[in-house]
Amino acid sequence: MELRLFDIADIPVRVSLWYGLLLLYWFQGGGDARSTLLWVIIVTLSILGHELGHAFVARYYRLRPSILLHGLGGLCNHDRAERDRHDVFIIAAGPGAGLLLGLVTWVVSLNAPSAWMLNPWFGPVVSMSLYVNFGWSLVNLLPIWPLDGGQLYRLLMLRLVKPARAEKVTHYTALVLLALALLYGGVRGTSLLLMLVLWTAWSNVRALRGDSASGPIRSVNKTAKQLLLEAQRAYAEQDFKEAARLGQLLRHERNVSDGVAREGLLVLGLSCARIGDHAEALRYLRAQPETPEVVEALIECFYALGGDNELNQLLSSASFHKLPPERRKEILDIVRAEP
Ligand SMILES: [Zn+2]
Repeated sequence: MELRLFDIADIPVRVSLWYGLLLLYWFQGGGDARSTLLWVIIVTLSILGHELGHAFVARYYRLRPSILLHGLGGLCNHDRAERDRHDVFIIAAGPGAGLLLGLVTWVVSLNAPSAWMLNPWFGPVVSMSLYVNFGWSLVNLLPIWPLDGGQLYRLLMLRLVKPARAEKVTHYTALVLLALALLYGGVRGTSLLLMLVLWTAWSNVRALRGDSASGPIRSVNKTAKQLLLEAQRAYAEQDFKEAARLGQLLRHERNVSDGVAREGLLVLGLSCARIGDHAEALRYLRAQPETPEVVEALIECFYALGGDNELNQLLSSASFHKLPPERRKEILDIVRAEP
């Protein structure tokens, strides 16, 4: 059961029934009401800050994030990122936001008048905020999957070893660290922490048994690379129509590396210019570095489409003057000729 609370910058924030139970657990704890209330507020704001860290970066990548406060803290759901690198930034932004909140608390407390620290509200707020934002962020960065640190560790392992091995290393590392926490970490009795440790261990066992996926495994898009090679070959053989067709196919591939995508758009733009599809060519060529080949194609496009301002700008640019003098003269003769 979930309740939509509010939106922050178009990011919906929901709360689950389990979060209510967590609050109830704290209020049952027997501390005085004021400290418990402060604790609940600080924890909620800190979790929100952490999840907003994830959510803002996910929103930057247009992955439609949403936040859920649930029994074990918070969760930021979003569409699947296209690249591991995007996931790294999204994941790191959570603890990053926590550390930033901790830092802000620390700076504020350093500059606060000493009388404030004796205030029955201000002092506890500062110490709780430091504890939650610094302490939890650092714990969260431990390489224990599915904590944020564990997810970053998994992405690192995927870079270093084969996927099947990376998953094993990820989950065995988590289990070893959790066992150490149980043995030496003072996790005793029936505390919430013990339940968290056991639940985390169980999640890792399930992932090792293959019952649940630990996260996406992205591989390099080999089809895209192949399409690029074929498009470049067709262009070299002056089969511009075929090169443009392959370029369009490549443009619609997903999970393409930046380099292949850029090269693909270059071939596509140049091919479109050569087959007279000038408006389409401009869409891809404007963003390209102004190599002689691109400059000539751009001139052709502007000339054909009647973009006089842009044409004149290009003709007086440094990029144009890098063309060989005789080629420059040829071009100027054509574009300056009276109709
Ligand atoms: Zn997080």
